[in-house]
Amino acid sequence: MKKAIIVTVNAKDKGRLEELIALAETLGYTIVKVFSQQRKRPDPRFLLGKGKFKELINYVKGLQSESKRDNITIIFDGNLKPIQFFNIYRELKNVNILDRVQLILEIFDEHAGTREAKLQIELARLKHVKPIVKEWIRQRKIGELPGFLGSGKYDVDAYYLMIKRRITRITQELEKLRKLREKLRKSRRKAGINTVAIIGYTSAGKTSIFNALTGERKKVGEEPFTTLTTKHKAVILEDNLKVLLMDTVGFIDYIPVEIIEAFYSTLEEIVESSLLLLIIDVSEEINEVKRKIRGVFETLRRIGVSGKPMIVVFNKIDLVEEEKKVEEKVNLLKNVVSENYENIVTYINASAKKGFGISEITKEIVKVLKKDMVKVFVSVPESKLGEIYLPLRIISRSNGFYKCEVYTYKDYLLATLKTLKKVNAQ
Ligand code: GDP
Ligand code: MG
Repeated sequence: MKKAIIVTVNAKDKGRLEELIALAETLGYTIVKVFSQQRKRPDPRFLLGKGKFKELINYVKGLQSESKRDNITIIFDGNLKPIQFFNIYRELKNVNILDRVQLILEIFDEHAGTREAKLQIELARLKHVKPIVKEWIRQRKIGELPGFLGSGKYDVDAYYLMIKRRITRITQELEKLRKLREKLRKSRRKAGINTVAIIGYTSAGKTSIFNALTGERKKVGEEPFTTLTTKHKAVILEDNLKVLLMDTVGFIDYIPVEIIEAFYSTLEEIVESSLLLLIIDVSEEINEVKRKIRGVFETLRRIGVSGKPMIVVFNKIDLVEEEKKVEEKVNLLKNVVSENYENIVTYINASAKKGFGISEITKEIVKVLKKDMVKVFVSVPESKLGEIYLPLRIISRSNGFYKCEVYTYKDYLLATLKTLKKVNAQ
């Protein structure tokens, strides 16, 4: 079991702590305790005051004696100064220590679908640990020190050098990738792949909807996809329409400035998608929901998304008591959404938990994606059918030929006809 203890000092608002807990749970941690303290200033040595820190140590020791196999992590809200990180690590050797930045980077990493995003995340992580490693070197000069970050005999100086070199390398590679980006985007569309990005705040139910949508569907092989991860699944909806569904990284309220860039690059896949599925948790208090809706559109504007078709899903409808209240709430929210975005296709009430509204979402996805496509009628030799990667529907079969409807994007009609000629389609 992945047990986690959360430590927060001078927490100003409850939302921030709740968000941290939700983020940790996203990564599979079970929160066993929250240590929270109000004091004039955070302690320069341990963040927590001496007494409270002792309490933390004793608590960890208790957990460790209960079960040796459990993995214990302490998650600090906010950023730890290098010296604090160092001091805490020295006192609590057999636990993982994460601060807010590291925790969020782990989540980004899970969702990153492109090489560029992966590199941005690694860059942010390296920049984050660099001063910590430097502190280690400083401490070693003062006195004898054991291995670094559990790496035993690892030479800290060599590690520091490696970090610096890697930062340079990544920066150069990112520059190259930026130039390639436009090209990659085009080639994806050419292959006839529709991508649908599931977006929304942390805990809105994106992963639950993603699972519900991909759950019983026939999965597609890897062929045209190079970046399939657990968060990206290709599924076939009706009429052989191939869709790449993406469970994107959630929007976060309290996002540390130093990782904003990594956040945006993880969201890059939203820019490239054909359709957005916005998941909204309607069970929350109305003003909170409104605030989050505005937050979503603010971020979308910032990454340059506008006018892309969007289906809005009001999720967790099972948690809103009466039917009349659902309608009232949903109507208010529709207004907020439509004030902020042009191209809303439709609104759907759903409950990922109860499986409610899922088939309607599928139906709407198909409807939207087909709009952007044109149909071509062709006869394809039986042996060549497998070479057509475009969505198609077989109408009939005779004399070794399949009569099919093939779907393609309007922009790529000519390219598609060329491809079809190559496989002797008529
Ligand atoms: P994500 O952060 O957007 O991916 O959200 P998750 O899919 O991980 O869901 C967050 C939490 O909300 C989980 O505990 C889910 O079980 C719960 N949840 C998701 N959808 C529903 C729903 O329709 N009804 C209820 N009651 N809970 C839900
Ligand atoms: Mg999720």
